[in-house]
Amino acid sequence: MDDQNTCTHDCSSCSADCASRDSAEIQKEPLNPASSVRHVIGIVSGKGGVGKSMVTSMLATEMRRRSWGVAVLDADITGPSVPKSFGICGGVEVRGENMLPAYTKTGIQLMSVNLLLEDASSPVVWRGPVIAGAVKQFWTDVIWTDVDYMFVDMPPGTGDVPLTVFQSLPLDGIIIVTTPQELVSMIVEKAVNMAKLMHIPILGMIENMSYAVCPDCGKKISLFGESRGQEVAKEYGVPLLAEIPIDGKLAALMDKGVIELMENDYISPAADAIEGL
Ligand code: ADP
Repeated sequence: MDDQNTCTHDCSSCSADCASRDSAEIQKEPLNPASSVRHVIGIVSGKGGVGKSMVTSMLATEMRRRSWGVAVLDADITGPSVPKSFGICGGVEVRGENMLPAYTKTGIQLMSVNLLLEDASSPVVWRGPVIAGAVKQFWTDVIWTDVDYMFVDMPPGTGDVPLTVFQSLPLDGIIIVTTPQELVSMIVEKAVNMAKLMHIPILGMIENMSYAVCPDCGKKISLFGESRGQEVAKEYGVPLLAEIPIDGKLAALMDKGVIELMENDYISPAADAIEGL
């Protein structure tokens, strides 16, 4: 809305990338002065349970294998399963006014609200602003050391909390995780539109649970009908970075807290795209 006659001067409700856009409208939180973080990538999904945390953990594992400095900021406070996938529970070291992240077995730095709870199984019954505040503190009060790629496991959906996280962290881009069922609804479209509205580049989409492989003959079985991943990615003009099958081994690794032992290369194309940033 560059046009003088149509501009409402309310950039928050307008997606136009015009010269008069008020760039000061979004207040990014300052990174802790003792931290070093080069790239921040948000992992988002339209709803919970689609495998967003698993994809975050797999991406972090793969990038660490490629010898990058990697961190995960677990902002999915409604279901913080990232620490579990790395077998990390409880205890955060406090240094002065700051916190130090936990380190996984291969050296991925991790911070999650689950590490702050006495009992990781107790539900987090915080209201939106408190959740958003905790996430901001993970950015401002945690000392992140030599991080090349930080993955932010975003809260699912397009509500208030993900929106605040979107606005307060300097995301270089986002990756949308979907399942075949989600692709037939408007959930993906909403996530795409939210990113566009926030002026955050969409690096691509990852379709999880795309198919299953018959253990006897190796044939790919589309449990939820033919995959529409390629088609939908094309529709929104974003690349399809990976198609991950339903794989019992992955679920077992997640449950045992040893995702870093994964032996597949499902996520490699997505890691290639991230390296190409
Ligand atoms: P989200 O973060 O989107 O809520 P999770 O990553 O926590 O979802 O995944 C939900 C559950 O589904 C977990 O138990 C996880 O291990 C399992 N899961 C996710 N993707 C797969 C897959 N491709 N194959 C097998 N299990 C999976």
